[in-house]
Amino acid sequence: MNYDKKTIRDIDVSGKKILLRCDFNVPHDKATGVIHDDTRIVSTLPTIRYLLEHNAAVILLSHMGRPHGQWKKELSLFSARDHLEKLLGIPVPMTQDVLGPDTKAKCAALQPGQAVLVENLRFRIEEEKNDPDFSRELASLADLFVFDAFGAAHRAHASTEGVSHYLPSVAGLLVEKELNFMGKALENPKRPLVAILGGSKVSDKIGVINNLLQKADTIIIGGGMSYTFQVARGKQIGASLLDEEHVGYAKEMMEKAQQLGVKLLLPQDNIATKEFTADSQPVLVSPDHFPEDLMGMDIGPKTIEEFTAAIQGAGTVIWNGPMGVFEFPAFAKGTNAVAAAMAQQADAITIVGGGDSASAVEKSGQAAKFTHISTGGGASLEFLEGLVLPGIACLADK
Ligand code: AMP
Repeated sequence: MNYDKKTIRDIDVSGKKILLRCDFNVPHDKATGVIHDDTRIVSTLPTIRYLLEHNAAVILLSHMGRPHGQWKKELSLFSARDHLEKLLGIPVPMTQDVLGPDTKAKCAALQPGQAVLVENLRFRIEEEKNDPDFSRELASLADLFVFDAFGAAHRAHASTEGVSHYLPSVAGLLVEKELNFMGKALENPKRPLVAILGGSKVSDKIGVINNLLQKADTIIIGGGMSYTFQVARGKQIGASLLDEEHVGYAKEMMEKAQQLGVKLLLPQDNIATKEFTADSQPVLVSPDHFPEDLMGMDIGPKTIEEFTAAIQGAGTVIWNGPMGVFEFPAFAKGTNAVAAAMAQQADAITIVGGGDSASAVEKSGQAAKFTHISTGGGASLEFLEGLVLPGIACLADK
């Protein structure tokens, strides 16, 4: 996939009406509407501000949750709109419908320097179906399409890919940043390239490991998925998470790493416990002697030391997935240690590929020390897999 896409800086936006696809799908309290994490809204502000300052009329588009074509009050974009108004300091009217008479009237009346937000596009079933008539109707509202919803780039929906068939389409500043960092990090990395993978499911990371084996110098595997790899190399895991179906795959990957000269690091010790609760007694164990009744919840101190050393020697570090059950403070040490080691690498390119590891970094208060924290969970994973993202492939090349 070509990462060199035209952006809003490469075209004249002045006086134009622009459909701007954002990702305002923020975690929020369904009853009160209180937003828990506004990262996705904040990270698209530079694009919105640029367009308004350059005299464009901006029609904001987004989805929220999965209403599957049903009108659901708790998935309205109202709370995102209220928050956006505060951040921008200007009124942002919102439509009462999706592409109905109210949308058409508000978009027709929109003047340069003004913005309007269309209600949750997924209230219409045609959005996720990538319905061509719906896309054409969306396109008829504007002169240009700007895509800035990196978190939705892996979906071919009407407002991400469909509409690009009917309007000149370019990238927003957030998507430009994601392409620059995530794309370049893998295409032409400052070496050594160290990739750190964690989280619970091996099955989610198969494509990522396959792709990274071709690109990385070192692959570090922690978190719940590491136990399947431990079994594949004949180690003990007690009652830890095991994906039996993928033991053969894990073995294959370890052999492939060896053939390709890629260093593959697995935990040498773990923090385990009897029950999956926050206050269950932590016990230090080794994969050579792992008590049958304990389950691994985090990486141990020796492993932290080894992983930290690998991070310290890296030119580029890409991280996706926690090293343990970081939601419980007693089992968050490994995840926090990886975050801290990456934060200290001032001369390296440090990238966090969205999802849980991104929230762990935000929580650690060290986010500013990272080169890039991706706003896309699923989209970043597909990026790391080397897949074509439909929301990006459809944008004009430079
Ligand atoms: P994923 O959704 O695959 O990225 O995994 C994220 C989840 O993995 C988090 O909720 C972690 O609590 C969980 N996780 C990480 N390590 C372990 C482990 N050792 N056992 C069980 N769950 C884990």
